[in-house]
Amino acid sequence: MARWLKHGAVASAVADQERKVREVVEATLADIDRRGDAAVRDLSVKFDAWDRDDYRLSQAEIDECLNKLSKQDITDIEFAQQQVRNFARIQREALRDVEVETLPGIMLGHKNVPVQAAGCYVPGGKYPLLASAHMSVITAKVAGVPRVVTCAPPYKGKLAPAIVAAQHLAGADEIYALGGIQAVGAMALGTASIAPVDMLVGPGNAFVAEAKRQLFGRVGIDLFAGPTETLVIADDSVDGELCATDLLGQAEHGPDSPAILLTTSEKLARDTLAEIERLLTILPTAEIAAKSWAVFGQVIVADSEEEMVQIADEIASEHVQVMTRDPDYFLANMTNYGALFLGPRTNVAYGDKVIGTNHTLPTKRAARYTGGLWVGKFLKTCTYQKVLTDEASAMIGRYCSRLCDLEGFSGHGEQANIRVRRYGGDNIAY
Ligand code: NAD
Repeated sequence: MARWLKHGAVASAVADQERKVREVVEATLADIDRRGDAAVRDLSVKFDAWDRDDYRLSQAEIDECLNKLSKQDITDIEFAQQQVRNFARIQREALRDVEVETLPGIMLGHKNVPVQAAGCYVPGGKYPLLASAHMSVITAKVAGVPRVVTCAPPYKGKLAPAIVAAQHLAGADEIYALGGIQAVGAMALGTASIAPVDMLVGPGNAFVAEAKRQLFGRVGIDLFAGPTETLVIADDSVDGELCATDLLGQAEHGPDSPAILLTTSEKLARDTLAEIERLLTILPTAEIAAKSWAVFGQVIVADSEEEMVQIADEIASEHVQVMTRDPDYFLANMTNYGALFLGPRTNVAYGDKVIGTNHTLPTKRAARYTGGLWVGKFLKTCTYQKVLTDEASAMIGRYCSRLCDLEGFSGHGEQANIRVRRYGGDNIAY
């Protein structure tokens, strides 16, 4: 039976916080819906101290941002983008259109059709998270989305050159310097200066994730991708320093980012707790990481690998770093995770920044029902059918007519009957 050496936040406090965010988002979206650009501007001034007539970046502003970066910066961004593009293309190629004759004369098919306009949110409140531009914009472009709009907030009151460069190099068609609820609200609802998109994607803080959730229905969304979460699963084949580094590396995202250690080794659990204390005295981002570790950090000691799988599936974490003697056991047996990082040689930062898998991943247990962002999220799988012969139409029509009778659907039944009469010669009616 598992034992908790450190517990996380009380559920009722988390629910209270979520309710407050829900209320703020609801009121803010209603304001954007009613007042359009005027509301967007007021919100941008209020939350980001950022005021412009036009939030869309000009080519001159984009060039200025590119010029502020070193050659090495651009090379690094392009390398990361190439990895994301390459894997997205491989995933796109694995998705086939289908057309098959399921019965003589009956042809069924589906086509993967890209959405026509996607709005990609790139977070930038606490850190200029340029990697999110690769993840959303490139993936949309590989999927074939013709209009890709992207928004990122100003960083500390200025444009973030690295984000703008990443948005541009990824192939965005329109770049806006807007953050938070006002950015996703404007992209989804449309204003006089931003034409509405069909779908919103990308990660963000609790306000951004909740705004996307509330906008679902009016537009499509990729998934619920809120504050980062990480789960480290480890046994005594690794040490406390490695586990502590991987936990704090994700806790630094924000004060609401849960980091959990799940292990079969009580010694490793205690070593990791001690290492976390030590690292928090030297990590430059310790202020944020310490807050989230204090409130949301957990350390769980389980009895077996089977129990670790069971607990990990219940947690359904966004990131799961596995550092055990047999990491493939978790690949074979776990079902609820955003992404797995298998073995001590890799880690979540590789996935977040550069390795090529997408870093926009499900949070708040959304991993029970979805994986992360990928080309498939931008594609609508649309079916079609053809009936090629008179015999096939009459044959399927006779079944359809009887099934419509069972449901009492006379109008549907007559759609079948008229064809059975014409193509099969049967004397069939209501
Ligand atoms: P952000 O861009 O998501 O949010 C900043 C915006 O929030 C600001 O522009 C502001 O307009 C708005 N805001 C701030 N306080 C507000 C308030 N009180 N009321 C209304 N709006 C407010 O940047 P961030 O805050 O740094 O958060 C980024 C988040 O993205 C982190 O939580 C990180 O963990 C998460 N993330 C998630 C994933 C994923 O795939 N799930 C990936 C990367 C990052």
